[in-house]
Amino acid sequence: MGKLQLESKIAVITGGSSGIGLATAQRFVAEGAHVFITGRRQVELDKAVELIGANVTAVQGDVSKLADLDRLYATVKASKGRVDILVANSGIVDPTGIDDVTSEHYDKTFDINAKGLLFTVQKALPLMGKGGAIVLTASIASVKGMPGYGTYSASKAAVRSFARTWTIELKERGIRVNTLSPGPVDTPIIDSQASDQASADQLRNMFSTMIPLGRMGRPEEVAAAALFLASDESSFVAGIDLSVDGGMAQV
Ligand code: NAD
Repeated sequence: MGKLQLESKIAVITGGSSGIGLATAQRFVAEGAHVFITGRRQVELDKAVELIGANVTAVQGDVSKLADLDRLYATVKASKGRVDILVANSGIVDPTGIDDVTSEHYDKTFDINAKGLLFTVQKALPLMGKGGAIVLTASIASVKGMPGYGTYSASKAAVRSFARTWTIELKERGIRVNTLSPGPVDTPIIDSQASDQASADQLRNMFSTMIPLGRMGRPEEVAAAALFLASDESSFVAGIDLSVDGGMAQV
């Protein structure tokens, strides 16, 4: 067997109970890491812990609540004392056209996708040292114009921008920051955008036709890219936006 890529590493993955975050947690554990996962729903977290099987700690919490983030990192500190890898992955999408955007819609989207991600990173930093890696989950939506995705896309453009600034701000500390931008990937976030199964299927078909590779991505395909950015395999990669999108935003 080859060398494990994350042997003895401590990783925090927000939104690690579902979809891309869960697949990333499973892959990181398979590569030798201990993983802390967060999510809002305890039931989902319990299921994820069972699926991951070992070397995983679940901490329930909402990334848009700073006290919850403090509790998360207090738990990590007490149990492992440090963070080597942070995957700031929690996110929501609530497709809403410009005429229907409300203050509540805007606040909720930015509170979770942008503000929550910023404080997820800020509050991890005291536990991170030289060699640390931060992966921010954005989206190819940040560089596309798609009806109904204005607020979401803008919140993800903020994420991509943070990676540029933090790459410079954290260089003296030896912490690398990169952005990972999935295209449409088959996870529960797709169902969250549809009122019933038929419209979810329709959405999946629509996305598939928009992707040069002719299909949606699988969570484990994004997890493989997260592993690259989190591991020493990407030791000379900093500040990038790595698209995992079947070519959707590339051609
Ligand atoms: P998902 O719905 O399966 O997972 C989202 C995760 O975020 C869940 O674990 C959920 O509990 C968590 N989360 C949501 N709000 C939270 C909050 N307030 N506090 C803490 N956790 C919260 O969807 P996914 O597809 O796995 O999405 C993961 C990330 O990938 C998101 O940031 C999403 O925007 C991004 N993304 C997904 C796709 C896609 O097509 N699936 C495409 C581009 C980007």
